[in-house]
Amino acid sequence: MDDRNARIYVAGHRGLVGSAIVRKLQSDGYTNLLTRTHAELDLTDEHATRAFFAQEKPEYVFLAAAKVGGIVANNSFPAEFIRDNLAIQTNVIHAAYLNQATRLLFLGSSCIYPKLAPQPMKEKDLLTGPLEPTNRPYALAKIAGIEMCWSYNRQYGTKYLAAMPTNLYGPGDNYHPTNSHVIPALLRKFHEAKLSGAEEVTVWGTGTPRREFLYSDDMADACVFLMNLGDEKYQGLLGSDESQTGRFEPPLVNIGVGEDVTIAELARLVAETVGFEGRIAYDTSKPDGTPRKLMDVGRLSEAGWQAATQLRHGLLASYDEFRSRADTERS
Ligand code: GDP
Repeated sequence: MDDRNARIYVAGHRGLVGSAIVRKLQSDGYTNLLTRTHAELDLTDEHATRAFFAQEKPEYVFLAAAKVGGIVANNSFPAEFIRDNLAIQTNVIHAAYLNQATRLLFLGSSCIYPKLAPQPMKEKDLLTGPLEPTNRPYALAKIAGIEMCWSYNRQYGTKYLAAMPTNLYGPGDNYHPTNSHVIPALLRKFHEAKLSGAEEVTVWGTGTPRREFLYSDDMADACVFLMNLGDEKYQGLLGSDESQTGRFEPPLVNIGVGEDVTIAELARLVAETVGFEGRIAYDTSKPDGTPRKLMDVGRLSEAGWQAATQLRHGLLASYDEFRSRADTERS
């Protein structure tokens, strides 16, 4: 995207990742950002999606639109998770091809990897074992999206890349009391405990599981970095044609920080961030989930990128935004 006036479509610009990508592109001086709200353009609608692409002819596409949610949502609406995600990505990838988009970055999550993948998880671990059943409909849709990028690259010579981030957090996150992921859930719990003067906060599980957390602005930085990568390096990430080389190398790159923390360490950091000085208790009747989830970020660091935001700083920035939002909602 050498030209600051390039036509750039950010699909899903109101979500955690899409909104961070838009902020990053704006601060880098890109002036021609194309966005549509869900009400303006339903990406599950093939005709509407094609008409949008035919009219706007985006040169670069960040595909951050998806139906996402926590374990409860995934369990309650499995049909929508597979159908909407397959439809969105199929429509956008095909419309990008029909309208000669130069590059497309397809985003998903680390749940595409097998439940028992060796840690840290490498790109080559894709399709090596059974998935975590609770989010399998979402994960299978995303795996189909990666395969679709790969197939289009092979058959049509497109340059589509899939980028899968580890657990994300940041401004604009979902702070729902039961449906959210651990960082927003803990920020909220500790914040409410501090306000009410409670002496104890209960964290789910044993506190021993390990997780890796990536700040959404770092994720956006990585996405724009990938989109701007020089041709040779970018081509290197597009993998190889397995029918020619015999090697399983999908056009896939992990995005993470390469380090994890225990949930107990995270809980202490959140308590510090919020200024809660009481006790932290553990409710071991709640599930721990998988013991460890860490990405191998070797491919991305070889390409020249690494995360900049320390967890401590990212938590502070997220908490500031959460508080200002809570204040606005009250007033
Ligand atoms: P996961 O990475 O798919 O397991 O998703 P989560 O972000 O929901 O949970 C990560 C870990 O944090 C699990 O071990 C949870 O048991 C633990 N955890 C502790 N307290 C909470 C909480 O209040 N909400 C959530 N979502 N997870 C929590």
